[in-house]
Amino acid sequence: MKTFVYIDHFKGAVQPASWEALGLAKTFGAAVALVFGSGVDAIVKAAFEFGADEVLLADDPALLDYRAEPFASTLSALASSSTPDLILFPTTARTRELAAMSAVDLGTGVLTDVTALEANGDQLVATRPIYEGKLLEKTVCSGKPIIAILRARAFPKPTAQAGKSGTLTKAEVKAEALTRVDGYTVAENVVNLSDSPVIVSGGRGVSNNPSLTPPAGMDEKQAEIWRAQQGFALIGELASVLGGAVGASRAAVDGGYIPYSNQVGQTGKVVSPDLYIAAGISGAIQHLVGMRNAKLIVAINKDADAPIFTQARYGVVGDLFAIVPALTEAFKKKLGSSNW
Ligand SMILES: Cc1cc2nc3c(=O)[nH]c(=O)nc-3n(C[C@H](O)[C@H](O)[C@H](O)COP(=O)(O)OP(=O)(O)OC[C@H]3O[C@@H](n4cnc5c(N)ncnc54)[C@H](O)[C@@H]3O)c2cc1C
Repeated sequence: MKTFVYIDHFKGAVQPASWEALGLAKTFGAAVALVFGSGVDAIVKAAFEFGADEVLLADDPALLDYRAEPFASTLSALASSSTPDLILFPTTARTRELAAMSAVDLGTGVLTDVTALEANGDQLVATRPIYEGKLLEKTVCSGKPIIAILRARAFPKPTAQAGKSGTLTKAEVKAEALTRVDGYTVAENVVNLSDSPVIVSGGRGVSNNPSLTPPAGMDEKQAEIWRAQQGFALIGELASVLGGAVGASRAAVDGGYIPYSNQVGQTGKVVSPDLYIAAGISGAIQHLVGMRNAKLIVAINKDADAPIFTQARYGVVGDLFAIVPALTEAFKKKLGSSNW
């Protein structure tokens, strides 16, 4: 089977799930990486090292910024001439658009949010969670090529082999576009929860440390937020020692403790890290649907009956303001200083 893998990146920073897609492609046979951009030699090198047998490179100033029209036209032209059986994308906002437009060009279908892809006879069967993860749907695509967008961290990332190379082929660029990117501004301090192998999340409980005395002059709400920020500083320190990101419950976001981009759950991000530590989070169903696919869940809560403990492999009943700093110290000793 010949598989194309679209290597998604922003200004040269590759979405790690692209390498996971490349690893999956290799399990089916030859893997051809599609590298689009301007001045992207470092990505080509990395694509070979992560296992690509061939790289199709579309390197052109017109592809400096992602825009659906030139990227989809270039990709569709390549797929029409090289006739791959399968095209894999990591899931990002860009690739959802790109895969959909390419599928229309190529007259095929798209399998989205795929967490498993298995050969069954001459068919590929995709699995994807639906209804907040309560059901796993099995889907096949009768069109050719099959286009699948993979959920981040659902497939193992291959180990890079330094210095490995392969066939580099220059692709024709279809540069025509009616849109132009005029610049970027950072909207807020956004975290990338989906790719993080470790997430330490805080809930309403992070504001519950009555022993902290807020600065004079604060009203009740300001004092609550100030306390919560002291709590999230502890959460952040633990996340940093573990090389992870900070998550939050909706109660923490709604309380004004932390930005929405940190929220995990039904109306936040759905994550599947290797390790998820929930501190001061009760475990409402809307939170659980966002994190219950984590490989290892640790819960810290004062209330031994909190529902979060039903999902946790390890549970600590106690005050997070004592337990989180103790864990941070213990991990610092165990891991040395390389992680933070
Ligand atoms: C349509 C809809 C969508 C929603 N989407 C989301 C979503 O995406 N994500 C989400 O998280 N929620 C979501 N919610 C809200 C959800 O129902 C809960 O209200 C929310 O998850 C509760 O957050 P929490 O666990 O932080 O707060 P609480 O339920 O108030 O729990 C706080 C916990 O902290 C513990 N605690 C307190 N002090 C300490 C301490 N010092 N040490 C240790 N533990 C302590 C308490 O025992 C308690 O269990 C949604 C709700 C609706 C209706």
